[in-house]
Amino acid sequence: MPITLKPSALSSEITINHGKNKPEGSRNGDLEYLRACVALAREAVSTGDAPFGSVLVNTSTNTILARDRNRTVSGSSPLLHGSPPGPDPTLHPEFTIARWAGLNLSPEERAVCTVYTSGEHCAMCSAAHAYVGLGRIVFASSTVQLGRWLEELGENKKRALRPLSINDVAPGVEVHGPVEEFADEIRDLHRQHRDSREKAS
Ligand SMILES: [Zn+2]
Repeated sequence: MPITLKPSALSSEITINHGKNKPEGSRNGDLEYLRACVALAREAVSTGDAPFGSVLVNTSTNTILARDRNRTVSGSSPLLHGSPPGPDPTLHPEFTIARWAGLNLSPEERAVCTVYTSGEHCAMCSAAHAYVGLGRIVFASSTVQLGRWLEELGENKKRALRPLSINDVAPGVEVHGPVEEFADEIRDLHRQHRDSREKAS
């Protein structure tokens, strides 16, 4: 049974700013959805998960169909019923959204969906997105930025995958981003995540 989340289900912290730094080729609503992704990324940090969040939007009805955040430490994605609590390194929000879309939407519905995300998809998530035939992707921060920030934080050597762009993996996907106004906030979330991990170890 598909889950339908209306925009009103989002955090009240979401602000609308259509004024500046709109991603090239952007549409009305892009920045609000990216703001929702960053709010989800912040929620992830609070449970020890990495700061990434994503929403899936049907762009023909402007409806949020699904949303998730990184759960690689805490586990149990609500989009994947039966996924147990506890560490699962594949629980990236872009991946759980692609899995959910593949299981719950028709190919026609998937094609008119946009995935918004706080950080550009990794290779695993790019491949899943392309395999299920979802539409365009709008990201707030890029893989290149993430690499730079993790380098600054001394975390870059821990990355499991080569830092490919979405189009390196899935050349047919329409991609927009990064959006500069989110850079400082997302970099700070990565710093908070690093600090909380250090404190826990
Ligand atoms: Zn990923």
